[in-house]
Amino acid sequence: MNNKHTAITPSEQNSLLRLDKEHVWHPYTSMSEPLPSYLVDSAEGVTINLASGEQLIDGMSSWWSVLHGYNHPKLNAALQQQAAKMSHVMFGGLTHISAITLCEKLVKLTPPGLEKVFLSDSGSVSVEIAMKMALQYQHARAEKSQHKLTKTKLLTVKNGYHGDTFAAMSVCDPVTGMHQIFEQVLMQHYFAPAPKVKFGQVWDSNDVTELSALFAQHHAEIAAFIIEPIVQGTGGMRFYHPEYLKACRNLCDQYDVLLIVDEIATGFGRTGKLFACEWAGISPDIMCLGKTLTGGYITLAATLCTTHIAQTISEGVAGCFMHGPTFMGNALACAVANASIDLLFENDWQAQVQAIESTLINLLKPLHDHPRVIDTRVLGSIAAIECRQVVNVAKIQKRFVELGVWIRPFGTLIYIIPPLIINTEQLTTLVHAIATVLDEDDCFS
Ligand SMILES: *Cc1c(COP(=O)(O)O)cnc(C)c1O
Repeated sequence: MNNKHTAITPSEQNSLLRLDKEHVWHPYTSMSEPLPSYLVDSAEGVTINLASGEQLIDGMSSWWSVLHGYNHPKLNAALQQQAAKMSHVMFGGLTHISAITLCEKLVKLTPPGLEKVFLSDSGSVSVEIAMKMALQYQHARAEKSQHKLTKTKLLTVKNGYHGDTFAAMSVCDPVTGMHQIFEQVLMQHYFAPAPKVKFGQVWDSNDVTELSALFAQHHAEIAAFIIEPIVQGTGGMRFYHPEYLKACRNLCDQYDVLLIVDEIATGFGRTGKLFACEWAGISPDIMCLGKTLTGGYITLAATLCTTHIAQTISEGVAGCFMHGPTFMGNALACAVANASIDLLFENDWQAQVQAIESTLINLLKPLHDHPRVIDTRVLGSIAAIECRQVVNVAKIQKRFVELGVWIRPFGTLIYIIPPLIINTEQLTTLVHAIATVLDEDDCFS
């Protein structure tokens, strides 16, 4: 383990962590018995520097968002240059070069047909916007044709994850998405079984039998179908067959249902394609982007849609789409997103992802037969190790820190999704740390 001198003294560290525990919510942990938090002093490249001096190789990309590493000179410069002009101006009635450039880039890079961009604050909000767009579109269509509005529900698949806000939560997996707590208030939607045929397996069209039946039975009520393309992320790092996604596109066309693709986790090269939709060669009607959009620097998301959807909504009773967040089109976020996308191409993201993928496939081979492991899988820059037992997060986290890595497993899954600039030696350190903890009984429960 490497150690680095930091300016925060040990007694300051203790009092900061005491205050943190007393007053600060952290995600998905108890406020009365919280999992420990580690105090970070700085981060650079693929290294997170703890205030206590440990240097950790980052296997998480700060929840899948960092692409080019921390504290990148070009991304820092983009922020500084933008801040020197203005950090933010309202987007109602005003516009600016950073937002215009970004939206033009997104239209060019995403699959054909997506031509209108709605910028927002975070992934969950971009999903709320996508769902609202689909519903407002169906409302406008019904109004125009003077038909009764019946398409007011969504269809999705189990094991999905689309965010923590209410509309997004209503299309998350009903079990892991904690629907029972909010049953009284959540919108009720339709759920098909999760895709079963894995990426790389032989396709079996039976995988869409139940999905097809749900479309056939309920299409008159269904405004849109929403799915994470190719990778079901938070719902278990499941990689499914591109033919499934193709079938979704066909069913949506056949039954006059909009296709919403949530590329928040998969966008910008993660799976080996710039967007995971490309594995199936399809274009959705609506696409959500977030996480890596700013290279992990600031929160920003985008919802893209077709001209047809935008026009239909605009011709409806409201005359406009009914949404407008305060920080829409934030200039700092747009500036750093532009710089991050430019870097993606300067750095040859495809070569970066291919190198990570082949290194991870090799490194994970010996773990496949480990008695504690059910499955190992790699797609692009994502690797998952599914264990027989649930991890003990506090213990395994402590061990990973001792081993000089930052990896945060959940449930039975140990996964890594590193920044694209990671090298072979650093990847080896990450996988060796995983191999080490797999042999330690007290890291599992
Ligand atoms: C993370 C994630 C979201 C939610 O994004 P936030 O920025 O956390 O609100 C939505 N969909 C998918 C697929 C995600 O991975």
